Amino acid sequence: MKLLEEAFRITFDDMTADVRVSDVPVILMSKKTFGMIHKELVTVLGRRGESLLYHAGYEAGRQGVATMKKWWDFRNKDEVIEAYKKQFSRFGWLYLDSIEEDVDKTEIRITVHNNFESRQYQKKSDDPVCYFTRGYLCGFVEVAFGMEALRCDEVRCESRGDDHCEFLIKPMFW
Ligand SMILES: [Zn+2]
Repeated sequence: MKLLEEAFRITFDDMTADVRVSDVPVILMSKKTFGMIHKELVTVLGRRGESLLYHAGYEAGRQGVATMKKWWDFRNKDEVIEAYKKQFSRFGWLYLDSIEEDVDKTEIRITVHNNFESRQYQKKSDDPVCYFTRGYLCGFVEVAFGMEALRCDEVRCESRGDDHCEFLIKPMFW
């Protein structure tokens, strides 16, 4: 199992513009630039833009766990959560505060702070806006927790002035 610090090591090759975190090619983008793309997608495409962000997040969430599993031999759910907590912070995405399952294990509540996706809205949005994060968490939980056909709703959002973003994940047909 790689050390967390080694897995999050960032390397640059100025001649080929190849930037990597561990062995994964990445681009670096300011939160402002992402925020502008986000706002344009939602403003121009409406529901289709929201859906596009959600589905991109969902696929990224599912594939992200597969990538993480190459780096770590996770022994249990707590180790996956611990690794992700660090990854989200290191990538500048968000601070993962908690993942709580209810007693019947039919509902998962995820609380995050400083979500990059809500930043551009400066607490002035009427509705939750973290479509990419919502999809990402849904895909992530499906693969990491071995569950299928989940839905994820954002019930609190920093974009509209809430203290944090909060996501509720449960079976789609329940
Ligand atoms: Zn949010």
